[in-house]
Amino acid sequence: MTHQESLNRLKEGNSRFVEDLLDGKLQNSSRRDSLISGQEPYAIILGCADSRVVPELAFDTGLGELFTVRVAGNVANTSSIASIEYAIAHLGTKLIVVLGHQSCGAVTAAVSGGDNGYNLNQLLGHITPAIAASNKDASINEVVKKNAELTSIDLINRSSIIKTAVNSGEVNIVSAYYNLDSGKVDFLN
Ligand SMILES: [Zn+2]
Repeated sequence: MTHQESLNRLKEGNSRFVEDLLDGKLQNSSRRDSLISGQEPYAIILGCADSRVVPELAFDTGLGELFTVRVAGNVANTSSIASIEYAIAHLGTKLIVVLGHQSCGAVTAAVSGGDNGYNLNQLLGHITPAIAASNKDASINEVVKKNAELTSIDLINRSSIIKTAVNSGEVNIVSAYYNLDSGKVDFLN
């Protein structure tokens, strides 16, 4: 599957989700059996840990379809980058979607500032560039979109595996925004 075909599949699945028409395929015992020997997920999703944003549901996918990496604020840190590198190098996945979402708590916390303790401070530091690149009066959701865009660039700049795969045209990265109310995923580029 090309990355364009993968993207089309995600869009079709999201339309079913939005319309309450989930087909829920590939979630049964025969699918489990078929995956014991290996996996070939067609998309990597770098999404937030938020309980309301579940990629497998939002794109109406089953087992073995999505390689999902979730971390608050969908940031590119060492662990999330390494996970994505694995999927590209060893599973042959050709599409990366950086999925931000409406009213993200991590982005809200980063914009609010203050001391959130060592670990959360480290994580929120990855969102700071998106705040700096946004207008002073930007809404949280505007910063969320900027964060998804900059994270896409970050993945390329901080990983030679991802950079090589993208530059060769083999892999594509898109940023996207999930609407909590409608369930719709807007692709931003
Ligand atoms: Zn979030």
